[in-house]
Amino acid sequence: MIYLDHNATTPAKPAVIETVASAMREVGNASSVHASGRSARGVVEDARKCLASLLNADPKAVIFTSGATEANNAVLKSLGGKILVSAIEHPSVLEAAPNAAHIPVKADGLIDLDALERMAEGAQLVSVMLVNNETGVIQPIEQISKIVKAKGALMHCDAVQAMGRIDVDVQKLGVDYLTITAHKFGGPQGVGALIALAGTKPVKLIHGGGQERRARAGTENVAGIAGFGAAVKAIDIAQYQTLAVLRDRIEQMSGIHVFGKNAPRVANTTCFANNGVPADTQLMALDLAGVCVSSGSACSSGSVKPSHVLQSMGIDASLANSALRVSLGWDTTERDVDKFIAMYQKLAPTWKKAA
Ligand code: PLP
Repeated sequence: MIYLDHNATTPAKPAVIETVASAMREVGNASSVHASGRSARGVVEDARKCLASLLNADPKAVIFTSGATEANNAVLKSLGGKILVSAIEHPSVLEAAPNAAHIPVKADGLIDLDALERMAEGAQLVSVMLVNNETGVIQPIEQISKIVKAKGALMHCDAVQAMGRIDVDVQKLGVDYLTITAHKFGGPQGVGALIALAGTKPVKLIHGGGQERRARAGTENVAGIAGFGAAVKAIDIAQYQTLAVLRDRIEQMSGIHVFGKNAPRVANTTCFANNGVPADTQLMALDLAGVCVSSGSACSSGSVKPSHVLQSMGIDASLANSALRVSLGWDTTERDVDKFIAMYQKLAPTWKKAA
């Protein structure tokens, strides 16, 4: 099998698996005062410090959650009034703020900063992602935060697809809230964090005990948090950058149209369409051939809808319905990519005939 769907989830790194297994041998509840509890607490606090140090944040700002969906919900539901979100956000932002106004993006997938400037007047909260999960396009968050702060609003950034790929520093980015999740950079699924800087108050979604400085109740996921910390320690951005060579090799295939190609992008992601051949036709054939990739469209109730991200970039529906997302990662080899390219080029002429 060739797994090229790292933006959906990354395989856990070996050090993460070992750390999770060893943390599962902890017997205590991190809230218990006895020695076993203190030992489990130590595991959680070590991971918190490690994460905070990577992000240049105070460990007290870290709230562990069940993942990015929960973290995004906690921010977007924390304020009433005028909220702005970019049109290309993940559904965990868009659905959590159904009344928010959508900041448009340009054809290259970058936020329209003039529109943001106009729209941000009187806003309470603005949410813009650092890296888009479908196209890999990197937004200029430092610049966006400055515009947002000048209007007196709070700034949230979903940095899920940026962790482990580019530098993520909350001070440099100038954000008030940052969302991350472990399973997009070699950590376990089902554990994430909201970084809530001093002066912010995310809404408490989960009520019960006083865990996470009373911000998020429930016994801590000690093993998951330990694995999260191990994934942070295993980040190697320089090695990640080398994936761009393999990504570019895919983009040289003939007959494809690459989205967001002229914008700054992370090294691992390519989103391209193949001349109107439906994405599900391509996906099924590739799956049968042992290749795991994603489509850039959302399938709901049996009908395939063009992705909201590509639509926001003004891409024609038939081209958007043909979009595939190929995302490489820490365990991707040159051989995987060459096999994918050979397979794709062998299958593509058969799709053209069928289309
Ligand atoms: N935000 C972005 C940009 C994502 O890509 C994802 C996952 O696909 C999420 C949020 C949700 O993350 P989680 O699976 O941790 O809830």
